[in-house]
Amino acid sequence: MAERVFNFGAGPAVLPEPVLERIRQDLPALPGVGMSVLEISHRSSAFDEILAAAETGIRALAGVPDDYHVLFLQGGATLQFSMVPMNLLPADGEADYLLTGSWAAQAAREAEKFGSVRVAATTEPEGYRRLPTPGEIGVSPDAAYAHLTTNNTIAGTQWGAMPDVGDRPLVVDASSDIFSRPIDVAAHGLIYAGAQKNLGPAGVTVVIVRADLAERGSPALPKLMRYATYVQGGSRPNTPPVFAIYVVSLVTAWLRGQGGLEAVAARNERKAAKLYAAIDGTDFYRGVAEPGSRSLMNVTFRLPTPELEKRFVEEAEAAGLAGLKGHRSVGGLRASIYNAFPEAGVEALVTFMAEFERVRG
Ligand SMILES: *Cc1c(COP(=O)(O)O)cnc(C)c1O
Repeated sequence: MAERVFNFGAGPAVLPEPVLERIRQDLPALPGVGMSVLEISHRSSAFDEILAAAETGIRALAGVPDDYHVLFLQGGATLQFSMVPMNLLPADGEADYLLTGSWAAQAAREAEKFGSVRVAATTEPEGYRRLPTPGEIGVSPDAAYAHLTTNNTIAGTQWGAMPDVGDRPLVVDASSDIFSRPIDVAAHGLIYAGAQKNLGPAGVTVVIVRADLAERGSPALPKLMRYATYVQGGSRPNTPPVFAIYVVSLVTAWLRGQGGLEAVAARNERKAAKLYAAIDGTDFYRGVAEPGSRSLMNVTFRLPTPELEKRFVEEAEAAGLAGLKGHRSVGGLRASIYNAFPEAGVEALVTFMAEFERVRG
């Protein structure tokens, strides 16, 4: 195998190496099946087992209550920006959106096509560099649901505890921090995540939805836009992304093998603390997000000039530290250090940062 670099990319992102090894080993023929996972029928008993393992893995990891469905969909998190309001927002109703980043804003813009959107809080005027304080959040008693993005992948902020939205269902886009820490599923109405950051490859979206909410979408909706279709069809009303679901089953097994979400969270905290300490330890590097809102998943920072940032990215790449360029909408640098990102990679980056500052600072 060619040598692997440290992949700081924001998504699709690094997968656990043991998972990749397992995929490689079993790719030509699944044990006991004699066919590749790329070739099996989605109605086969082999896939029944894979789908059950992916669901069981998620249920066990997150302690998903029995009255919640775990669904596997396509269309990425972006399709959920549409499906959530299509199913949960009546045409004459309103929904609260907390605008804490460009993904959150995109979700709100999509919801406006289906009903009325209230901005319950926004930090857009401050470039999304922080999350709103509890006093800045105003949820409507009439909202069909409140929507937020748990981790803002681009700005590099992350909610700690979820804000209080009363008894309206809390709907969250958890694409970039799902299963990076323990989660109280029962405090949510619906959780969705594109798999390609923390859970697997691109091509599958995990939706965890309270059973009564899954039934709200009108039967007049296009079939594949309705959550109830996936409940009735066991996540396969049509051909599901078999390979992506297979990888999710392996990643959830790996996460459980790591000791579950408490252990994963402790490791993620350690990794992020090391990197933020390196940023805060000098004036050469500057964190983008306000310290109280910082993400443990996407660490955004800047150097004194755009020229130095460009040079940093190039030299880091040459040193085997890939994908550090910030999102094109904000510039600067971003180190994505999701669940599968190794601690050794964080240490390598910290060492590189010190050396870069010594030479170019
Ligand atoms: C990456 C990302 C998305 C977009 O996901 P797709 O699967 O490409 O649609 C949406 N929300 C958040 C928070 C993200 O990080």
